[in-house]
Amino acid sequence: MNNVIVYAEHRRGETRKVTFELVSEARKLADALGGKAYAVAVGPGSAQLAEQLKAYPLDAIYVNEDPDVDAFVLDPIVDYLEAAAKLAGPSLVLIPNSLAGRDVAGRLLVRLDAGITADVIEFKVENGAVACVSPKLGGALITTCELRPAPYGVSTVRPNAFAAQPGGSGAELIRLEKPAGKAYAAAVESDVEEGSGELALEEAPVVVAGGRGLGGPEPFETLLKPLARALGGAVGASRAAADAGWVPYNLQIGQTGKTVTPSLYIAVGISGAIQHKVGMRASGTIVAINKDGAAPIAEFSDLLVVGDAFRIVPELTKLIEASKG
Ligand SMILES: Cc1cc2nc3c(=O)[nH]c(=O)nc-3n(C[C@H](O)[C@H](O)[C@H](O)COP(=O)(O)OP(=O)(O)OC[C@H]3O[C@@H](n4cnc5c(N)ncnc54)[C@H](O)[C@@H]3O)c2cc1C
Repeated sequence: MNNVIVYAEHRRGETRKVTFELVSEARKLADALGGKAYAVAVGPGSAQLAEQLKAYPLDAIYVNEDPDVDAFVLDPIVDYLEAAAKLAGPSLVLIPNSLAGRDVAGRLLVRLDAGITADVIEFKVENGAVACVSPKLGGALITTCELRPAPYGVSTVRPNAFAAQPGGSGAELIRLEKPAGKAYAAAVESDVEEGSGELALEEAPVVVAGGRGLGGPEPFETLLKPLARALGGAVGASRAAADAGWVPYNLQIGQTGKTVTPSLYIAVGISGAIQHKVGMRASGTIVAINKDGAAPIAEFSDLLVVGDAFRIVPELTKLIEASKG
């Protein structure tokens, strides 16, 4: 395999940061393998997404606005990816490690008789072979698996593991023809929008994360949420806070939680254990608020504010709100 194909997952043209991370990594991998980098964007809104993808160093973007992609459950996407892979020739297919992405990957690898690596955080190319690094057993092990020598391989990739790097001279848009003779059994009956109105943690430009130092669930609502709202960000947590049941597990950041890369990360009452650090260390600016000036987080923070979070956070929120006015 020497080409690289990215499944550009989207909803009516709206995509997530991981798509741009994957197309950037696809370019590097394709160059290392001596092949080409492609993206596949299908379904209503894909033309709009393809325009955004043109800012990235791809060779071509396969597009089809086919309404069947939204009308049926995943099968049309698998068909289009299979068609793109057969057109491109031997390829590694990169798929976001999302709920739908994992499902698509499982079906696609059967069609392509390919091997799969899951939840990849790093790729290494040596002598034309692709080795994939993934955390396993809840992060207790980090494994490196090489895809078997075969025409096709599939990898699901963890969001925020790679940098999104625009550049290049504008990819060619190619209409991907609908594979003939397909009939789909599983139709989408209703489409429910998750209406929380809050930013997804992995996408947020600012993350305000709380730990055991907050002492219970209430401060996440009364201290952290107002600060996050003032900064246009999202709330996250350490595992200690999630294990205590103060916040749901989908807010946990770290080795066994999510990886985030916001421009600003504010850690409130978090000591900075290595397992937490690996999920946020690539953030732009790291600010820690901790009453212990010798907490490990001091070693990798840009700014450590030593003091009681219950006094500092409300003042900080007030100042930010006032400065906006
Ligand atoms: C296999 C494995 C996987 C793990 N995965 C993860 C993971 O994904 N994510 C994760 O976060 N952890 C993970 N952990 C757990 C990790 O080792 C730590 O136990 C955890 O991160 C500690 O959380 P904490 O910093 O909130 O709590 P603590 O370490 O207890 O720190 C609390 C901090 O709050 C400060 N504090 C207390 N009161 C105040 C106050 N009023 N104002 C300001 N500061 C205050 C204290 O000084 C202290 O520094 C994992 C562990 C293992 C073994």
